[in-house]
Amino acid sequence: MGKHTQHLLDWVQFCPHCGGSLEDPRNLVNEFSLADSSICFWWCYSCGAKGEIAEIQRVTAPELVEG
Ligand SMILES: [Zn+2]
Repeated sequence: MGKHTQHLLDWVQFCPHCGGSLEDPRNLVNEFSLADSSICFWWCYSCGAKGEIAEIQRVTAPELVEG
């Protein structure tokens, strides 16, 4: 729950395959959290492409030690 959620959605405003806008409600953009990552699944209505974009918190903060 945080600012990174909105940031992640900014990455998938457009289909990487055909460049169409994913803001069309016929497309599917679904974000969920898995462990300490945010994953955004998207499916493009226009061209049928689909994929996932993951933001991994550990990569952006390598100095942090967990535990
Ligand atoms: Zn597309």
